[in-house]
Amino acid sequence: LSQLFRPLDLLGMVYRTIRQGVIDMGAMFDLLDTGAEVVDAPNAQPLQVGKGHVRFENVQFGYDPGMPILKGIDLDIAPGTTLAVVGPSGAGKSTLARLMYRFYDLTGGRITIDDQDIAEVTQASLRAAIGIVPQDTVLFNDTIGYNIAYGREGAGEEEIVRAAQGAAIAGFIERQPDQYDTRVGERGLKLSGGEKQRVAIARTLLKDPPILILDEATSALDSRTEGEILDTLQAIERGRTTIVIAHRLSTVVHADQIVVLEAGQVAERGTHAELLRKRGLYAEMWARQAREREEALAAE
Ligand code: ATP
Repeated sequence: LSQLFRPLDLLGMVYRTIRQGVIDMGAMFDLLDTGAEVVDAPNAQPLQVGKGHVRFENVQFGYDPGMPILKGIDLDIAPGTTLAVVGPSGAGKSTLARLMYRFYDLTGGRITIDDQDIAEVTQASLRAAIGIVPQDTVLFNDTIGYNIAYGREGAGEEEIVRAAQGAAIAGFIERQPDQYDTRVGERGLKLSGGEKQRVAIARTLLKDPPILILDEATSALDSRTEGEILDTLQAIERGRTTIVIAHRLSTVVHADQIVVLEAGQVAERGTHAELLRKRGLYAEMWARQAREREEALAAE
């Protein structure tokens, strides 16, 4: 009999998961491909978030058995601080973020928030505590107001405007003839990558989570937009425990700690200044990106 109910359970779960904001993560988490095997522990209790102290203890994980992707990661992110994760493509940066949101269970070690193992709390409470600003935000074919309000059920008009202001997109919205009622998405106004990211930031401001995951856009934003988004992101990071998956090193300079991931292991860690002094992988990446930046500026 239980076999019969499984598809229904799964549907219910998919529905709830979508409601919990998974759709926000768009391409990053590949909704259909993930999460089906993660279930709440029999006695799962809601996560009690205190200050938001996040720890990874010897975290091991692979998508396929026998193919380890993360090989024993230790991280300690003090409440309210920012950890930036950098490293070559395929190093496991996005995987780390997916595990934090418990899209998969670990093959070894544990992740804790305020000393509670995330595998032992309810998924709903875990996901309510974490806000995600993805690389590529999925917009609904609805109004821009609706797309922002999606960050928190029952948000009032004033709060939506305040969130839009915090994400520096209020001016843009107010210049549209229909303002917050402007339709966006496939059949409406097309937003640029930077504007979509601002909608995601506004949603997150409404959700007001104690823990934040930012997956920086890989797609090139022009340097002015990049600078503006950076300022906005730094504003929402304040007071929240934040993990930034960073593709451009210019965005991690301010982080409290930086971890360089290479082939599923922490190759280096420290602050920007410490890592430059080490003259290792980070310093090399920094020099390379600085060169590329100069070349791009010269070409602009
Ligand atoms: P990038 O900077 O290119 O985004 P990354 O450091 O974020 O890379 P991950 O996306 O975490 O890297 O991927 C780490 C490894 O896991 C890669 O070898 C990738 O091919 C593999 N991988 C990622 N997602 C899956 C999946 N759903 N199933 C199987 N393997 C996967």
